[in-house]
Amino acid sequence: MDVIVAGDRAGLLKAKRTLGIGAASGEGTLALVPTMGALHKGHRSLMRLARERADHVAVSIFVNPLQFGPNEDFSRYPRTFDVDLEACADEGVSIVFAPSAEDMYAQDRQVSVSAGKMGTVVEGAFRPGHFDGVLTVVLKLFNLVQPDVAVFGRKDAQQLAMIRRMVTDLNLPISIVGAPTAREADGLALSSRNRYLSPHERHTALALSRALFAGAERRAPKEILGAARAVLEGESGISLDYLVLVDPATFTEAGEDYEGEAILAVAARVGSTRLIDNVTISL
Ligand code: AMP
Repeated sequence: MDVIVAGDRAGLLKAKRTLGIGAASGEGTLALVPTMGALHKGHRSLMRLARERADHVAVSIFVNPLQFGPNEDFSRYPRTFDVDLEACADEGVSIVFAPSAEDMYAQDRQVSVSAGKMGTVVEGAFRPGHFDGVLTVVLKLFNLVQPDVAVFGRKDAQQLAMIRRMVTDLNLPISIVGAPTAREADGLALSSRNRYLSPHERHTALALSRALFAGAERRAPKEILGAARAVLEGESGISLDYLVLVDPATFTEAGEDYEGEAILAVAARVGSTRLIDNVTISL
């Protein structure tokens, strides 16, 4: 079956009626994969996971102006809608929801979601307001699409943690699924922003995953951070924003006596491209 493209709430309702998706018993379930488009194999792995979790998959494609800072790449963010649609069709997606910015945000809008203190640490410290923008758009997408399940990548680990927090704190009736990070064969985490990298920069960027994998071979926080930092310091052309070991649920620092799963997360600029990556380590 062809993908149904919807641009607003009315289009979504019509698509869901056509597909027999709804809350009534016997009706199909729906999994949502929110994206900003420029779809790659990482997004496709989320779609496949979504298909395992529900009868139908909806993919949203929306470059959300609210989550970009004034000096970030909103205007040059890659937009490849036609190719994205083909990728969605290939993966058996039923609905693509692609609203316009005007439909999403009224000129006179007043109310938005605050990510709280957790939105101001680690990635949030470098991108003020970013998580408020993410949570606001995700809540709006949840309300518009009304999925049973939503799938997010662990590549954006703090985003996933913040969405889980919002679902708990605001009692949202949606189950959240975290998907593993898809990587190129050489370790580079797939990202829509990788296409900004020159061949030389792409080579330099490999130090991020190399650093994380080096850290993941150690078991004590100091050693983990030391091993990862050594790799990053050995590579010229990398400007580090942060390298941290944190609790995956709160994004607070995992200290020397921390036990359980921790996330080793890195953010760095390679040329003018800002990249993030992380791995999970059992302590
Ligand atoms: P984006 O289009 O960058 O906003 O990403 C949309 C979704 O895809 C988010 O849940 C991301 O975490 C996820 N994602 C992006 N890159 C990857 C990747 N390499 N592996 C798995 N998920 C990813």
